Amino acid sequence: MTRRKLVAGNWKMHGLRAQLKEIAAIEAAAAAHPHVDVALCVPTTLIAAAVDHARAVRIGAQDVHENEHGPHTGCVSAAMLVEVGAQTVIVGHSERRADQNETSHDAWAKAAAARKQGMGVILCVGETEAERNAGRAERVVQAQIEKSVPEDADGDWFTLSYEPRWAIGTGRTPTTEEIASIHAIARAKLRMMVSDAADRIRILYGGSVTGDNAAKILAVENVDGALVGGASLTAEKFVPIIEAAA
Ligand code: PEP
Repeated sequence: MTRRKLVAGNWKMHGLRAQLKEIAAIEAAAAAHPHVDVALCVPTTLIAAAVDHARAVRIGAQDVHENEHGPHTGCVSAAMLVEVGAQTVIVGHSERRADQNETSHDAWAKAAAARKQGMGVILCVGETEAERNAGRAERVVQAQIEKSVPEDADGDWFTLSYEPRWAIGTGRTPTTEEIASIHAIARAKLRMMVSDAADRIRILYGGSVTGDNAAKILAVENVDGALVGGASLTAEKFVPIIEAAA
């Protein structure tokens, strides 16, 4: 089955309004490559303004609360994100798992909350370096998928992203064989959980993707796009990744 490639940027905690000028050039590249889906998950404070700069680029958020409303100081619900124009949201990112102690169950609940409001979801899984060195990468990723992927996951709203924690922001990546192996295992696990829908779900790779390595990584079987942190902050670095996916 052919799946459209998705190149999604994660700006993390980077960007004031001046950063929005990057979106215009990214927007032009996205419009020039209509067979590639492009998304930018910007800080919450920039979502509304980013939406005004984007048409071909889908604007997303980087987290969402699992509840619809309530006494959760500082948190943002899916309905709030939708109201300001966010179309998709990252859940279960390893930085939130590490910094906010988020669990796979939290990621599952957040994905369900976003789905209820009609949002797309990019759910991240991935092993630590210690887990990989101990030969546990595959089991860790399988367990995370089992605990976090919603029962009704399907390709029209749900995307999985394999992001080995040790590759994020380090300039290090797994070999293409290692990526192929985890993506094949992830696809097989999805098939066990959601049967035929598994073949419609995109599985992204994330972790130190750049314009230099994107073509090689995107050519790996079962890699349906990339989740990009550092290299999504400027059009100069992000556009070559979109072009590599085209
Ligand atoms: C990320 O934060 O999701 C990510 C993949 O970061 P980087 O591309 O900077 O490694």
